[in-house]
Amino acid sequence: MDHPFPVIGLTGGIASGKTFVARLLEDRGWSILDADQAARSVVAPGTEGLAALAEAFGVEILGSDGALDRSRLGARVFGNPKDRARLESILHPRIEAYLDQRLKELPEGTCGAILDAALWVERSRAHGFDAFWVVEAPEELRLQRIMNRDGLSAAQAQARLAAQSKPAEKALHADLVIPNDGRDLSQLLDEAEARLLADWRTRRRRTWRMPMPAPFQTHELREVLESLLSRGGHYGEVFVEQRRACGLGMDDGRMEDVLASETFGASLRLMEGESTRFADLIAPSLPELLEAAQLLAAPGTGTPAILPELKILRHPTPSPVEKDPADVPLADKVDLVKRAELLARNHGEAISPGALRQVAVGYGDSTQRVWIASAESTTDVVSGLRPDTTWGSKGGHRDRREQAVPPFMAEGWDATLTEDCRTQGVLRLNVTAGEGQNLQTGYQVLGESKGFELFEEEAVARTVKDAVRLAIQALSAQPAPAGTFPVILASSAGGTMIHEACGHGLEADLALAGMSAFANKLGEKVAAEGVTIIDDGTLPHKRGSAAVDDEGNPAQRVVLIENGVLKQYLQSRKTARRMGVEATGNGRRESYRHLPIPRMRNTFLAPGDESPEAILKDLDRGLLVKHMGGGQVDTVTGNFVFQVTEGYWVEQGEVRYPVKNATLSGCGPEVLKQLTRIGSDLHHFDIGTCGKDGQGVPVSDALPTILCPALVVGGTAVPLPEVL
Ligand SMILES: [Zn+2]
Repeated sequence: MDHPFPVIGLTGGIASGKTFVARLLEDRGWSILDADQAARSVVAPGTEGLAALAEAFGVEILGSDGALDRSRLGARVFGNPKDRARLESILHPRIEAYLDQRLKELPEGTCGAILDAALWVERSRAHGFDAFWVVEAPEELRLQRIMNRDGLSAAQAQARLAAQSKPAEKALHADLVIPNDGRDLSQLLDEAEARLLADWRTRRRRTWRMPMPAPFQTHELREVLESLLSRGGHYGEVFVEQRRACGLGMDDGRMEDVLASETFGASLRLMEGESTRFADLIAPSLPELLEAAQLLAAPGTGTPAILPELKILRHPTPSPVEKDPADVPLADKVDLVKRAELLARNHGEAISPGALRQVAVGYGDSTQRVWIASAESTTDVVSGLRPDTTWGSKGGHRDRREQAVPPFMAEGWDATLTEDCRTQGVLRLNVTAGEGQNLQTGYQVLGESKGFELFEEEAVARTVKDAVRLAIQALSAQPAPAGTFPVILASSAGGTMIHEACGHGLEADLALAGMSAFANKLGEKVAAEGVTIIDDGTLPHKRGSAAVDDEGNPAQRVVLIENGVLKQYLQSRKTARRMGVEATGNGRRESYRHLPIPRMRNTFLAPGDESPEAILKDLDRGLLVKHMGGGQVDTVTGNFVFQVTEGYWVEQGEVRYPVKNATLSGCGPEVLKQLTRIGSDLHHFDIGTCGKDGQGVPVSDALPTILCPALVVGGTAVPLPEVL
């Protein structure tokens, strides 16, 4: 992104009026570049793009006039995911290059907007724009528009709408959602335009960072890699990490913990066939790295690698930082904790005098800088490697590694250097309220991939007040009924169930080991119609987001389950190689002391069509869950037990009373099969530190309001007589 003017990505659902908004921008002097038109241009008669398509799919996709016949192409690739991926790999880079060229041709002093930028969301690239705007309109209005525009009946229009991807998911990438419901948009656009024009340069600089001052020079890292690969191996890697962290804890008005730490370390990894050799070093010098590399290389018997210069790859960060916490005085962080504490006490006094017993506040910030130098053999010849046949759907994955290739043939190498800077902030509130012997707690946390700007007044107040409200409200809660009931999980409950009971089973290492309910089910129906589960590392400022993973692959939007069908797993380099697929940017590690393994980032159930109010209204007798606490999960089976920290008993669509000490248990994959109603709301991401193999990594998860037709509610109340 090096255009001398701001570039917006603009998108919206069908009939949301994004073209209308584009016109408004055009009237203001913006140049609108039409992605649809670009898609047509790159495969116009006589183009190299059309020739590439014909070569890939045969001349039968051409009409008698030599032009692309879209319906024939559609028929040719429809239903075959591999063909679709091939089509996309031909089309998408060409569309991007075409639009990039058009942007370059725009006169200086102009502004550019790309319509429709949905493709950039799918390509995990939405965060590279200077701004990403999503146009939304109420469903009623969109239906009306489709009916009027295309002369359809209400039912036909409804079907058209349901078949489209959901704008609510795109909105997760947006820094501006434009409500196009017939209102006058001029003031909103005035303000957004003024903001963008004032700060796009700063934002671009933060998003497309210049290289950071590194502990080692590029040629030094190449030297270490060559040493590492001096006696064979198909992959070598140097992972260098600098981390700075600050933590504060206040308990009952006393500052209990003040922790500040700085670490610097590096690790080396050498993979040869199925074997991995690994070494980690605290604050190493270059000679120490070289020595460790030689030690790791020593057992090998292969030929030395001659590496090219490291290619330096820059990737935009989805989480540009405004205020580096390292530049914020400790006194300001202490002050934030004290203010949160005081606010909790005052708010408690205001809503229930004398009820608050204890307030604990935790603060944390951390900045992790990583440099990943790696060299991977492009000929991929590894003596002794056998194709893996223990995974995958019904054969069909014969890949190039299965053919006999003589070992020790001259290898090509892909050698790259990537880097990332990840800044996180967290504020935790733990509140205890009491009434005689009855003690209840409320917990809330504010956490994102942001600098100190995360802790703005309103967000802090909301977090504090929520924790206080939860604790005090729990005092008057009644025991939950026990039995099997329909349960509504509200979006505010977060996606713990999706993460724990389904997400882990979608990690490729667990699937390969057969320790997953989703093992060997690629391409199969594993969930109800309408169930789409996505892990997206490109969502702006979410806790699991990053520019690249800990193996140097860009973070991605990974569609795991689409409309009930299992599409792919979360991959690291190692698992991707075993399965013969592309890495997905999910190879993560806690620190330089750990090996990267497939991990989730921001995992969510994609929003559906239903209004959350309608889902509640139709609940005859059951539980509404607004907050979930901790729990236990068997990731192999997906069986879970979670605590409900805010729940309500519902009868005839009405909330009757808050319940306490309830638990939910069920089986994640079974719940996915039974989901009948999926809300259109998806607004709250729960944050956490996910533990696996002794490694913790920051993640977040979310779901829209959903109805689970039958979950086991464990409560302390006497079981109701007529259990459903
Ligand atoms: Zn986890």
